[in-house]
Amino acid sequence: KAALEKILRQRSLQMRDQQQAWQESAEGRRMLEFRRSLPAYKEKEAILSTILRNQVVIISGQTGCGKTTQLPQFILECEIESLQGAACNIICTQPRRISAISVSERVALERGEKLGESVGYKVRLEGIKGRDTRLLFCTTGILLRRLIADRKLKDVTHIIVDEIHERGMNEDFLLIVLKDLLPRRPEMKLILMSATLDAELFSSYFNGAAIIKIPGFTHPVRTCFLEDVLELSGYRLTPDNQIDDYGQERIWKMNKQAPRKRKSQIASVVEDSLREADFKDYDPQTRESLSCWNPDCMGFNFIEYILCHICEDERPGAVLVFMIGWDDISALKEKLLLHPLLGDQSRVLLLICHGSMASSEQRLIFEEPEDGVRKIVLATNIAETSITINDVVFVLDCGKEKESSYDALNNTPCLLPTWISKVSAQQRRGRAGRVQPGECYHLYPRCVYDAFAEYQLPEILRTPLQSLCLQIKSLKLGPISEFLSKALQSPEILAVQNAIEYLKIIGAFDDNENLTLLGHYLTMFPMEPKLGKMLILGAIFNCLDPILTVTASLSVRDPFLAPLDQKDVAAAAKSQFSHDYSDHLALVRAYDGWKDAEIDLAGQEYCWANFLSSQSMKAIDALRMEFLSLLKDIGIVDSNATNCNAWSYDVHLIRAVIFYGLYPGICSIVHKEKSFSLKTMEDGKVHLHLNSVNARESKIPYPWLVFNEKIKVNSVFLRDSTAVSDSVVLLFGGKISKDGDGQLKMLGGYLEFLMKPAVAEMFQSIRRKLDDIIQSK
Ligand code: ADP
Ligand code: MG
Repeated sequence: KAALEKILRQRSLQMRDQQQAWQESAEGRRMLEFRRSLPAYKEKEAILSTILRNQVVIISGQTGCGKTTQLPQFILECEIESLQGAACNIICTQPRRISAISVSERVALERGEKLGESVGYKVRLEGIKGRDTRLLFCTTGILLRRLIADRKLKDVTHIIVDEIHERGMNEDFLLIVLKDLLPRRPEMKLILMSATLDAELFSSYFNGAAIIKIPGFTHPVRTCFLEDVLELSGYRLTPDNQIDDYGQERIWKMNKQAPRKRKSQIASVVEDSLREADFKDYDPQTRESLSCWNPDCMGFNFIEYILCHICEDERPGAVLVFMIGWDDISALKEKLLLHPLLGDQSRVLLLICHGSMASSEQRLIFEEPEDGVRKIVLATNIAETSITINDVVFVLDCGKEKESSYDALNNTPCLLPTWISKVSAQQRRGRAGRVQPGECYHLYPRCVYDAFAEYQLPEILRTPLQSLCLQIKSLKLGPISEFLSKALQSPEILAVQNAIEYLKIIGAFDDNENLTLLGHYLTMFPMEPKLGKMLILGAIFNCLDPILTVTASLSVRDPFLAPLDQKDVAAAAKSQFSHDYSDHLALVRAYDGWKDAEIDLAGQEYCWANFLSSQSMKAIDALRMEFLSLLKDIGIVDSNATNCNAWSYDVHLIRAVIFYGLYPGICSIVHKEKSFSLKTMEDGKVHLHLNSVNARESKIPYPWLVFNEKIKVNSVFLRDSTAVSDSVVLLFGGKISKDGDGQLKMLGGYLEFLMKPAVAEMFQSIRRKLDDIIQSK
């Protein structure tokens, strides 16, 4: 013990000397000067002494004030100065991988180090962390995973949970666990950081924890709503939300210097883009009806017009455009690149900022462009709080974001563009006033803003809870409902019941909600339970290779691209891979083809020719490797993976395994003369997503489709599907039950026409045996 202490002390001394040397160097001094200019730095002493005196501290302050980059550093520096540097172990969680990576890079830079020295990061699939890493930025999911193996977080001295105002499911879950753990780890510190001001909510959750508010400062931001923008171009909004050109003459007269022709051009652009965006039915009383004002259908012309106006007439400064998601960002980018001014790279630097972009790409958005070049960043809500782009002066806000929600009644996840909350709108506006007075264009009328909800609903109240329930069980946190009742806000009972029921159906829970052996294994997979199950089945049935591809593909963004203007060509390209009515098998073929092309270093060309995303292909490749080594670590596959591909050529078996993994995600195909329709248990009629290979068929010679995901977007759509036969459904489909009249209950009694009850019973008994075999293997 004494020897260990000596080493620690020596190491701590080294760390201190190193820090001093950096702070005295020219570069280090400049960096320190920058850090000192941040509002958080002015509170450094107050923050440190509060942390010293309290176990839980909540810190709130405006976005960009230095919480994420500075606070963990303050703690580290304080430990280093008091010669505890080598003994401390600080973990700072981020809701998204992109912020965990970019923040760790930034902090290492500020400390004059390379990543992996005292500062590191860890996210799924990636991480840089060294023997001497004392400050680790990781995603919240990584910390939750660590809790399974190390329930008391033995060596951790400080936990910092960042961005708690976002109310992500993982963060809310982590807080319940930590609240429980704190009394058992009295010397461990918990620091919660939040951008907006609901600090009191968290404080009372942690029995009146200390709060520090970092005073912020932003420059004034001039705010335009849609009607103001309209008025600039000679239109106005009438009280019943009609567009009226009454004001045009007046504006033109007032602005004599503005050439009449140009004004009228502007007016026609605006009119064009607004024609479809018809919000006269809008009723401020009900938030639902807001959907009739839709920036998607308003088109990009309007945004293009404002961007042009900024580039031509406004002072220098970067522009940040808040869009909904990847789809509209990439479509807008394509459009802008064709524009004579906005697409001119010598005058405009057009960048995107999105949660799944590569870290090398994201570095660009922080860099200042050359003189005379205007930086325009098209971003999702990730630029609202997690990422601060310093030189932004203009903000365009489309007012929407993609929000996942969950319809517990129909047991259906939904992913819909929805209106943001007032807090988000304010946050977006604030991004314009960081360095100098700014301007914000909200691309919706003020009356729409007035009807926004104050805050967004926490994620735990709007997502399916299967993985969460599995995690609760694996961390041995007691009965699920009881545990979840300790959350900041507890989810609906029905949502919890649905999740538990699902886990019972797939065999992860027994009837008493205890983990089965399968369930126990599933908790070790950092993915949805159904994909984990499919992997295990792939190994058991010796067709692992294609199943690795399927599970990896379903975990990344769809590799089949469908550019708006080339939808048909892209669909034709995809249908080449189509094989026997299965999107999943198409993925396997596309991947195998890519892998072959990679050997000849022609992977990129292969992707271009086949409308595939080479980024997704690489991600699938990496995930496959990760999944395989996971299976080896857990002991499901032996170390040289012998035998596990003995049946990989057998398409029927692969189909059955895909089915068994995705069950009970299944619908029946009802054939009509020239077409077919689809029905699931809960929804009645459902539709195939247009990108599915099955959507192009007029007939499918199978009675069933199994799907990975159904999503409600107006009506219910199935993303990707594989057709399967009756025998597969009977054998692998599990709980087919009869009601009093001997009718098979499942899926509207359809099976009863095909199978006599005696046959069905036989299948059930085989299936029960199969279940036993799988549980014991
Ligand atoms: P907060 O967490 O309070 O929102 P941050 O600690 O993320 O603030 O950022 C503080 C400041 O540090 C930002 O305003 C920005 O000026 C600067 N900054 C943060 N990350 C980077 C980066 N990757 N590159 C350059 N500057 C950065
Ligand atoms: Mg932050």
